[in-house]
Amino acid sequence: MNCLLCERRLQSLPSWQMLIAVEKTSLICDDCSKSFERVDIIEESNLLDRITSIYTYNEAMREYLHQYKFLQDIALAGVFMNELRETINTHHTIIVPIPMHPIKKIERTFAHVEELLKTADLPFDDILVKTDTAVMGEKTREERLSMAPLFQVKPYTTIRDTTYILVDDIYTTGTTLSHAAAALKEAGATRVEAVTLIRAETTKL
Ligand SMILES: [Zn+2]
Repeated sequence: MNCLLCERRLQSLPSWQMLIAVEKTSLICDDCSKSFERVDIIEESNLLDRITSIYTYNEAMREYLHQYKFLQDIALAGVFMNELRETINTHHTIIVPIPMHPIKKIERTFAHVEELLKTADLPFDDILVKTDTAVMGEKTREERLSMAPLFQVKPYTTIRDTTYILVDDIYTTGTTLSHAAAALKEAGATRVEAVTLIRAETTKL
C-alpha cells in the first residue's frame, strides 16, 4: 500500500507490531504524519460546554483539506480516523456532524464531515439542517453573531438527556459551532460539546 498523500510505499509492519496495531492502521507515511502539527486545545464558551481541536491549520493541513474537500479525494477521509476515534467520546453521547447546505452537498457530491465519521466507524445522528448559505468569511464578527440561526434541529427529533458532540472539520471563527450549539440547546439539549479536527484561529468565542 502507498501513502495517500505522497504516494510513497508504506513500510509494512513486523508481525508482532501488526498484532498490537490492528486498530491503528495508518494510511499515510511517517513523514507525512509528522508534517501535521497537534494543537490539542480544550476550552469552553457560553454555548459549548467543551470544545476540543486536534490539529493546527498549517501548510500540510491546508493541502490536505484542499485535496479532500475540493478535489474530492474521498479516500482521504480515513487519514485522521485514529485521532478522531481517540478524541470523540462515544460513551453515552450522541455525535452530530455539522451539516452542509443541501445545495452545497450536491455540488460537492459528498458530505465531508459525515464521511470522516463513517470512515472512523463512529456512529452519528444527523439531526441538524443548515438554513443559510452565506459565506462566513465575507462578514464582520458583528454581522456573523447577529445573523439569523444557521441551523435547525430536524422536525420530530427527540432530544435526549445526554451529551451531544458536534463534529466539524475546521474551527475558524467559532460562529458555526455556536449556532449549531444554540439550535441544540434551544431544542432542549442540556450539554453540548464539540470536536474539530483543525483549529484555524485561537481567538475565544
Ligand atoms: Zn507520505
